[in-house]
Amino acid sequence: MSIRPLVIIPDTKLRLISEPVKEITSEIRRLADDMLDTMYDAPGVGLAAIQIGVPIRMVTMDVSKSEDEHQPMVLINPEIVWASEEKRVYEEGCLSIPEYYEEVERPDRVRFRYMNLQGEMIEQDADGLLATCVQHEIDHLDGVLFIDHLSKLKRDRVMTKFKKAAKREAGA
Ligand SMILES: [Zn+2]
Repeated sequence: MSIRPLVIIPDTKLRLISEPVKEITSEIRRLADDMLDTMYDAPGVGLAAIQIGVPIRMVTMDVSKSEDEHQPMVLINPEIVWASEEKRVYEEGCLSIPEYYEEVERPDRVRFRYMNLQGEMIEQDADGLLATCVQHEIDHLDGVLFIDHLSKLKRDRVMTKFKKAAKREAGA
């Protein structure tokens, strides 16, 4: 298990459409372990594989509040199968957009389907933080970031800030 470097905007990898996982191999299991380590270390409540540079449809999440009792979830090929008409606003952040938080409106409740590491298909209902998190992470698999749900003005401002920072780093 190891902590992997996070992919940060404006890295264009974050815009890739991730490929479905065809088979749960030892490599996939290892990747899931690394993703969980990386996510807990950050710390964050969710991580998509592309955020450590691997364009496959796998997500790790842990929305439990407790520090001592981790409730890790590994979602393989997750998809939203139903979303409520009612919306909800929640302040989101992203490990690929460090220290930036903004309110995002999304469906209040969703039903999602995924395969776990044992190869079982699971369908689950979510509300609250879990609903927000699963929608945010599945967006990543399609190259979508939470800032895409904001106004163009806000999005441009964030992108400009991170582009400048990346340039400074490259020049240093
Ligand atoms: Zn994110």
